[in-house]
Amino acid sequence: MSEYVRPRDLHEALALRAEHPDWMPLAGGTDLMVTANHKVAPIGILDLWRLDGLGSIHVEQGVVAIGAGATWLEVQRHEVIAQELTPLAAAAREIGALQIQARGTIGGNVGTSSPVGDSLPVLLALDATIEVASAARGRRRVAYSAWCTGYRQTGLAADELIVALHVPLPSRGTRTMWRKVGTRRAQSISKVMGAAAIVLDGDVVTSARIALGAVADRPIRIAAVEAAVVGKSRAQAAEAARAAVRATIKPIDDVRSTSAYRLAVAENLVARFFMA
Ligand SMILES: Cc1cc2nc3c(=O)[nH]c(=O)nc-3n(C[C@H](O)[C@H](O)[C@H](O)COP(=O)(O)OP(=O)(O)OC[C@H]3O[C@@H](n4cnc5c(N)ncnc54)[C@H](O)[C@@H]3O)c2cc1C
Repeated sequence: MSEYVRPRDLHEALALRAEHPDWMPLAGGTDLMVTANHKVAPIGILDLWRLDGLGSIHVEQGVVAIGAGATWLEVQRHEVIAQELTPLAAAAREIGALQIQARGTIGGNVGTSSPVGDSLPVLLALDATIEVASAARGRRRVAYSAWCTGYRQTGLAADELIVALHVPLPSRGTRTMWRKVGTRRAQSISKVMGAAAIVLDGDVVTSARIALGAVADRPIRIAAVEAAVVGKSRAQAAEAARAAVRATIKPIDDVRSTSAYRLAVAENLVARFFMA
């Protein structure tokens, strides 16, 4: 039988995490419970669902701070996120069905760090920062671009918890986009998904952040595309982006899709970001 503790606040949760680094933090449980019957039961469960101090979303000085415990429903319904962080709101609307969106959290998506985690390319394209905390060392922030260290591996230490995601509001004139391609339009796991933040001066691209998911062991930004498009018109940038994707990524091959299909979709998806 596993131990089970539901801390009252973050302070208590961090103390328990330090004391029991081998216990499993549980938020909505929508990732963890899927395979629960086929795995050895964890020694203990640290239940973070609805923990005080982990769920709030607030905007301060041009940055949206999203508590790790915020659900996808809360993310998509937040007024500022819906209006200003449209790729994140769009990804939130496409994560599973309503039941999953009401229970699954952003911290859980980032904690699992699956290559098909839909929010992850968005966090890369929007240049997010992740805030973690431990009882011993307090809070620290990590650029999301440095967070994923391998297949389902992250920079979270054994005594830390994810506290929040900080997402800067895009500057006026930045176009942000999100696109997910799966087996069908709704309720599917991504074959390829991506997000973009593109800055234009008239029709000319001045900078771009382009991220893809489900093509590698972790979500990736594609520096070759970002370099190839600067100074080009949108039409030229779309073709340069297509060529750069083809030259630089070697998508994974698995039960959901072949590498060749993923490559073709990734090329089209990224090219279309520049024509949207
Ligand atoms: C039917 C179904 C459909 C789904 N569809 C999609 C989809 O379309 N797109 C998609 O991206 N995902 C999908 N998922 C996966 C899942 O719903 C999401 O990844 C969700 O965001 C996970 O959040 P959670 O709160 O349920 O995480 P949990 O299952 O509670 O936890 C996930 C991991 O994160 C860790 N964790 C959670 N919170 C913290 C914290 N604060 N600090 C440290 N570690 C933490 C846990 O220990 C665990 O390792 C689907 C799942 C199901 C069952």
